[in-house]
Amino acid sequence: MLNSLKHGKERENMMNLLNQRIIACRKCPRLVRYREEVAKKRRREFSDFEYWGKPVPGYGDFNARLVVVGLAPAAHGGNRTGRVFTGDSSAKFLVRHLNRAGFANQPISVSKDDGLRYFDCYVTAAVKCVPPENKPSPKETSNCMGFLAEEFRILENCKAVLALGKIAFDSFVTFARKYHHHGLKKGKLRFKHGARYILGEGLPVLYASYHPSPRNTNTGKLTDAMFSKILDKIKRDLDSLPWKQSLSQKED
Ligand code: SF4
Repeated sequence: MLNSLKHGKERENMMNLLNQRIIACRKCPRLVRYREEVAKKRRREFSDFEYWGKPVPGYGDFNARLVVVGLAPAAHGGNRTGRVFTGDSSAKFLVRHLNRAGFANQPISVSKDDGLRYFDCYVTAAVKCVPPENKPSPKETSNCMGFLAEEFRILENCKAVLALGKIAFDSFVTFARKYHHHGLKKGKLRFKHGARYILGEGLPVLYASYHPSPRNTNTGKLTDAMFSKILDKIKRDLDSLPWKQSLSQKED
């Protein structure tokens, strides 16, 4: 069990060490094969680009109150650029909105050196390696959950989690049940766009949104107005809810 981390610098050091372990991970043979295969084959438009082809750690403000949890890196987004939600259509949608809501310094996320900074916001994924057809197996999701748990133990200022899509939502709920079972009741947390769940003492408030994938944003399943509404609600809540506990204060 980690003791409460008091200083931002300590959080940064802890996260850097964790990220080194994440980047070196080869625990899921299918995902290791796939991420490397995608990096080798490349998409024609990125044929000159040297793909990252490794697990993709989270990125953002280590003191953040908002943590955004996606599903996994995109084959030609995070798996190409090496930074989560960077260089693909989902990133374009998400970061434009985070910028509008004041959580990012710029509306674009195209490469590791593009100058993007998050404020009061950390962005990560439930699974750190790109899965074939964006579908990690339950075993792969479970394999990666330890990393998610370690991230949250370092992100001790977290008060709100925005889960993007059902898999990210279910992963966070499973993680919360496994590591912070206090007050969490079975069968009550169903993914629904726009839902907000107050999970209980020691846990952040959980918000759910459809994933900003092109399939959802191009078809109107997830619109700008719908996503803005959620981020605005989170902003308002962060400023007004009586937040009492941070995630890491109730470790078993
Ligand atoms: S998905 Fe997670 S546990 Fe599996 S190889 Fe990638 S980093 Fe490791």
